[in-house]
Amino acid sequence: MKSFVFTLIIVWPLLFPKNLMGFPEDKLELAADPTIDLLVGNNLKEILISGVDLQREIFANTGISNVIKNGNEKKNNREIRFRCNYNYKQREKLLTQVLAKVTSPTGVLNFSKEKYKGDFLILGPNKQGHCDLVNQVSLEKYVSVVLPKEMNARWPIEALKAQAVAGRSYALYLMLARRGLLKQGKSVLFDLENSEKHQVSGTLFDETAKTSLSAKSTAGEVLVAEDGQKMQQIFFHARCGGKTSLPEDVWGNRVPGYQSVLCPACYNSENIDWSVIISREEIWAFIRDNHKKWKKGGETLSQRMKLSLYPSEIDANDVGFVLQDKKTFATEIVYFKKAAFRRYFGREKIVSNRFVVKAQDGLSSFKLEGKGNGHGVGMCQMGALELAKRGWDYVKILQYYFPQYKIAKNYGGMTL
Ligand SMILES: [Zn+2]
Repeated sequence: MKSFVFTLIIVWPLLFPKNLMGFPEDKLELAADPTIDLLVGNNLKEILISGVDLQREIFANTGISNVIKNGNEKKNNREIRFRCNYNYKQREKLLTQVLAKVTSPTGVLNFSKEKYKGDFLILGPNKQGHCDLVNQVSLEKYVSVVLPKEMNARWPIEALKAQAVAGRSYALYLMLARRGLLKQGKSVLFDLENSEKHQVSGTLFDETAKTSLSAKSTAGEVLVAEDGQKMQQIFFHARCGGKTSLPEDVWGNRVPGYQSVLCPACYNSENIDWSVIISREEIWAFIRDNHKKWKKGGETLSQRMKLSLYPSEIDANDVGFVLQDKKTFATEIVYFKKAAFRRYFGREKIVSNRFVVKAQDGLSSFKLEGKGNGHGVGMCQMGALELAKRGWDYVKILQYYFPQYKIAKNYGGMTL
């Protein structure tokens, strides 16, 4: 099987206030196919949109319209150019808002060499005095377009359907979270960022008949907590490496209903998937920056203390180091979440949260040997592939990774 684009997921919804973690407290109204707002470009001095028969609507008045210049409008409105340069005074005075909307009767728009379905909203001014660009598209279209970016479009259809439901649940949660924030009077102008921070989004070119079918045949289906119809954040990742992780072990916040499950499907050898060597100096810096006690005055930590490694295990969530005061011989074991290593050293170096640490060359460096790829929370995509190959359908696959969730139709009953 060819390699596939693995998805990098996000932490920011977990930073929301706790009361936003479950929906609905009171029922939120959703259209049959709700619209999602995706941030597709940010901090743009100029936005050039092309298409056929472009229609433009300008919303912002006082102080805003004068900074939008529409130039180069050719025949049949094939191009609209927005220039977004606000001066300091305007920037101070104005809140970011929707300045304009661009639509085309064809339903297809071009921006920066990519084709998009739906409409574009131009937001401004941002903090830097420029504009942001939002693609407004139906949730179902989004699910079908994003699917080939999240999972290999040639994979079995039941795996793709499982991903469609997980991806839709993920996006819907963020849409509901935004509505919650709007209700609190906060200004949030999009649901999802089209970047690694959120799901990696696709454009029209990525959609295939199979991904489109996977989205259509599961339309409106989302994962909800078994006890009533509550939406929670639904996560997925490339490959867990034998066992899935809990949100609290990775991000520190508990998400109700998550369970760590064994995943023999993606774990077919004793081989390690990745390894990296981290120097003793880097480990000292890590300890200093991640341990509250030594955040201040930690520069001398390595001179005061003797460092050794506490035996490390693949299934443990923490890594321990033994520190001994060179003068007093007082000894302490300090533990750090494996996820803290990944945050500190980066996702490219520390590929997953499932690894062991081995001391090398008399503790002059440390070798991390890991299994899996991604944060490990929720559905394991490589596991889903293997299960689909064994004939499991998408319902069974999702139930395996989310045993305390069920699939609800019509966006969890939140349809009008
Ligand atoms: Zn797995």
